[in-house]
Amino acid sequence: MTLTPSHIIEYLYCPRFTYFEYVLAIPQYEEKNYKVMRGRELHDLKLEQNKDYLRRRIGAVSKHIDQYLTNDIIRGRVDEVLGLSNGTMVPLDYKFAEYKDRVYETYRTQLYCYAWLIEENFGHKVEKGFLVYTRSRNKLIEVPITEENKQEVKDTAKAIGRIIEDNFFPKATKYKARCVGCTYRNMCIR
Ligand code: SF4
Repeated sequence: MTLTPSHIIEYLYCPRFTYFEYVLAIPQYEEKNYKVMRGRELHDLKLEQNKDYLRRRIGAVSKHIDQYLTNDIIRGRVDEVLGLSNGTMVPLDYKFAEYKDRVYETYRTQLYCYAWLIEENFGHKVEKGFLVYTRSRNKLIEVPITEENKQEVKDTAKAIGRIIEDNFFPKATKYKARCVGCTYRNMCIR
């Protein structure tokens, strides 16, 4: 089984989600507590016209569009992988969302996963990524990606592997507020 950025995001929200959903195979019936917005507005003509402009603003010298990337551990679909003149690459992800003055942790985590995949598939270093908020007039936001960020998703993937393969029952999230609306609240021993 390979993991997706959603697995990583769920684990970071609460490791027990992973256990209930993938070890006990109890689906989440209710709407998820977090949202991973694909934000794909491929039929949005205005966005299509803007894409070249956005790539130029980023300083892209090459582009790979709609990339499905895998390695032995994770897989993911990146809207665009852009090459920069300094030899590094960046993931760019379109979000069908408004920009609300901060970048959600879920979006950041997705970019970290893409960075890992791009480095392994293209062999180029990734030091930052970009988000385009299509409901805020295609606002372009740069997100730095450090070695620690990439290492964190690698470590998380390893921890998820331990839960799923060894039936390991993990600790609860330390943020108790997250339990209030959690689908698994009734079966979760706190
Ligand atoms: S109730 Fe709390 S600890 Fe249990 S799975 Fe839900 S969020 Fe995690």
